[in-house]
Amino acid sequence: MNTNEKINLLVTKLSYYAATAKAYVESNGKCVYCGIDIFDDPHLYAKAAIDHLFPKCLYRALVNETENLVLSCSYCNNKKHNFDPMELEIADGKKAEDILKDKGLREQVIDGIRKEISLSEIKTKRHVEKFYNGLKEGKAIIRG
Ligand SMILES: [Zn+2]
Repeated sequence: MNTNEKINLLVTKLSYYAATAKAYVESNGKCVYCGIDIFDDPHLYAKAAIDHLFPKCLYRALVNETENLVLSCSYCNNKKHNFDPMELEIADGKKAEDILKDKGLREQVIDGIRKEISLSEIKTKRHVEKFYNGLKEGKAIIRG
């Protein structure tokens, strides 16, 4: 199955938004920043985000630009927050639109953000573990 066929199936069978489906297929269902497999855990899947590389609060014109959208786990998404990739050396003097159109540059921006937020698959797994521990402890306290 090619990329477009996968996207079409996600949209028609599972009601994904086209942009969301594209982000999932492109990253093979893994967070583009830390690399964790979103399908490894229901919590990760439920909380996964379609992140705007160039944050929507700063780049209104790129809100619906599919090249501006990537799959991110909630931990990386929270940590990145409104980080502006224009702060990265690679972006120096370039326009956001042009960076997104250039596959190589776009990849370098993703890599720059990855370093900036410094989350890794191992760190994300620790966050997930903490989440489940909190869930268990919360239940124990509430239910006695
Ligand atoms: Zn992540």
